[in-house]
Amino acid sequence: MSDLLRLDAVEAFYGRTQALFGIGLSVREGGISTILGANGAGKTSTLRAICGMLKVRGDIRLDGQPVAGLPPEEIARRGVGHVPDGRGTFLELTVEENLRLGGYLLPGRQAVETAMERAFHYFPRLKERMTQQAGTLSGGEQQMLAIARALMMNPRLMLLDEPSFGLAPLIVQDIFAIMRRINTEERVSILLVEQNAGLALQLAQEAFLLESGKVVASGAAADLARDESIRRAYLGH
Ligand code: ATP
Repeated sequence: MSDLLRLDAVEAFYGRTQALFGIGLSVREGGISTILGANGAGKTSTLRAICGMLKVRGDIRLDGQPVAGLPPEEIARRGVGHVPDGRGTFLELTVEENLRLGGYLLPGRQAVETAMERAFHYFPRLKERMTQQAGTLSGGEQQMLAIARALMMNPRLMLLDEPSFGLAPLIVQDIFAIMRRINTEERVSILLVEQNAGLALQLAQEAFLLESGKVVASGAAADLARDESIRRAYLGH
């Protein structure tokens, strides 16, 4: 399997503040990679760097093509869907309006309807709540809407920033099961940022551990899950 996404020596900046110090990581075509790390390690910044939201140095390649420095809209157009932390849905708009906005780059009405049906196939609960304001959805439903919105663009790669945040364990299990289906049925590759390391290491094939804006460990998710020091620091046992 070849790499769909590859970062080499990536540095990223908020104005003059440097957040990433030479990140290297990859996501295989059709694969799931996860980024683990404590608060402030640079996980969110890594996703923002990929999406074109931060000033970056170094090499970011999507399917072998350099994308570092391209504007966010161009990166979205090339097939990268971002589900940001805090979810990024428009709370005052309805479920349907949020989904239509997610499909704004699609070519024509039929493409939007097809993408919407696909989103409802994975998230039938959203279909029942189509006319409801996003702000009145439960936390789990809002997370589903955020993922469904990113799915509207037919992405090749989805970047998910802490989808489990603030949600009850049963809802988190549901959402992870749907992510797994989207990965296998649609062949959408995934880069997942998670505080819940146990869950992330179950879903992903490859893992990258960040500390202070650097990758300090990486490898097969199953190997990291067995590593004594990682177990103690991130899995709590
Ligand atoms: P968390 O799990 O707490 O979200 P994280 O691993 O996602 O943490 P980042 O949010 O990427 O970490 O933060 C990495 C570094 O970048 C931190 O030192 C943080 O203070 C800095 N940083 C993040 N956002 C900004 C910003 N908007 N302006 C300046 N510095 C920032």
